[in-house]
Amino acid sequence: MGKNNRVTGDWIKGIIEDFIVSSPLNTMEKKTGESAWDSSLVGFSSGADQIWQQYKEYVGAFHWTPWEVFNQHCPDENVSADQLTVISWILPQRKLVRKTNARAKKYPSEEWARIRVYGENFNIALRDHLVKKLVESGHTAIAPMLTPNWTIVKSERFSYASSWSERHAAHAAGLGTFGLCDGLITSKGKAMRTGSIVAKISIKSTPRPYANHQAYCLYYADGTCGKCIDRCPVRAITEEGHNKEKCRQHLAKSREYVKEAYQFEGHGCGLCQVGVPCEAGIPVRSAREALEKGELPPPPPPLA
Ligand code: SF4
Ligand code: SF4
Repeated sequence: MGKNNRVTGDWIKGIIEDFIVSSPLNTMEKKTGESAWDSSLVGFSSGADQIWQQYKEYVGAFHWTPWEVFNQHCPDENVSADQLTVISWILPQRKLVRKTNARAKKYPSEEWARIRVYGENFNIALRDHLVKKLVESGHTAIAPMLTPNWTIVKSERFSYASSWSERHAAHAAGLGTFGLCDGLITSKGKAMRTGSIVAKISIKSTPRPYANHQAYCLYYADGTCGKCIDRCPVRAITEEGHNKEKCRQHLAKSREYVKEAYQFEGHGCGLCQVGVPCEAGIPVRSAREALEKGELPPPPPPLA
């Protein structure tokens, strides 16, 4: 694409797909030469979407709007919120990786731990790559997660939260809703990693095809399931939701295990993301069928 040409959603999706296919960083660093990822979902949301203000109320005032983070790092651009688009993507875990971790009882499978480290390295590189491609075509862009002031802060509601949440950005871009375990359930399931960047471009927002921010979770939809509660080896998930502190402590312990069992510096868990009905798709039938038919529910109420 030439400089200052209009950027389209298809052009962006093409860049992400090409990077998945061709980047040497798409690797699990295994002798088998397997790739970490083989597909993606991509969505777009406007910098002027009201949901960013709702996140300030729901997550905390420290959670950046796209305009705040863009303006902090590119003040000379003088943008208004509606000149910004957030590009979000989902990298669904491959079947083999999900299968091995579904057998795990306490610590992650080797494959899962490799994705957590090397697959995420690819995800970081993808953010950089997309920013670079946009800048080359004359459009300023930044990756909030990679900015030096991105941070994790203590939160009354969530015990801790970050100044930019990739999962919340993906939710805003129509890519999924939250489950009892806090994970984002997408049309390819909850076993995934996600990323985003903010760019000074104008791309039509992806509709949010859900009635509320928990619509894809069986527990919230009809009071059933709760399978992620039993999958968690440290009981960090209950009917009240996800205890982030317990989860964090278990993740910290997993470092020792990964080093000893698999001989590399890594960590991870994700046991609650696999062996559950939302592992690889939307388990709520009505929501899944509505999405397949392209039906949109009435506008969702504010986050509560
Ligand atoms: S396992 Fe069941 S209760 Fe847990 S997030 Fe998935 S659908 Fe919701
Ligand atoms: S909640 Fe945390 S500790 Fe529990 S299964 Fe999920 S990732 Fe593991």
